[in-house]
Amino acid sequence: MRIWNTTNGSTIIQVLKGRSNSYIIVNERSATLIDTGKKSAFKQLSRNIQSNNINLKDISTLILTHTHYDHCQSAKQIKCISNCSIIVSHSAAKSIKTGYSKLPKGTTLPTKIISGLGEIIGKQKFGYDPFEPDTLVKGVYEFSIGRGKISIIETSGHSPDSISIIVDNEIAIVGDAMFGIFRNSICPPFSDDIPQMVESWGKLLQTNCKLFLPGHGKEINRDRLEKQYFRHQ
Ligand SMILES: [Zn+2]
Repeated sequence: MRIWNTTNGSTIIQVLKGRSNSYIIVNERSATLIDTGKKSAFKQLSRNIQSNNINLKDISTLILTHTHYDHCQSAKQIKCISNCSIIVSHSAAKSIKTGYSKLPKGTTLPTKIISGLGEIIGKQKFGYDPFEPDTLVKGVYEFSIGRGKISIIETSGHSPDSISIIVDNEIAIVGDAMFGIFRNSICPPFSDDIPQMVESWGKLLQTNCKLFLPGHGKEINRDRLEKQYFRHQ
């Protein structure tokens, strides 16, 4: 499992990879989980968290980068176990009540077809257990974790409810605002609004972050993000 450290003493541990990434931020004795992956990955997620000597009950906060099923299907279960506070975008308020967030549009012909099929299958396959949020982010939301500082900003485009988590102004966890799978592009294969997503990349470049951890695939460095941002201008 990959681990990153910030100068403020925050440690980011990747606790799920493969289909979707999840990360846990630890500073002093506080643990904040970012995304939960799919329900089918719950056992793996809990095993990975526990293998880092963190008890699921000790998770104080769960932040969802957005509420597509592959990022939030275990949110309800984790809240039941840990009684953590859940932080999501204000744009997710309606969908989390019903337990279904519309799939994003495809950005290529094959993914457009998949997205269309997804619409038909809908909630049955791409739904999740509805849950109650504790904080709805609009604009910027900041809090401390031990000696570390978390700042959450809205980075919509992939979905209206996409947010990014800036850890100590050094590393950003960006959900599906970027994709770390392809060699030549950081564009996700599904996105509701590409120009808005590129604008969000600009927002992320305004931070001092040097590293961007996506919801799928590997970390993206600042240099690569800058190049992709200017290519889309
Ligand atoms: Zn997504």
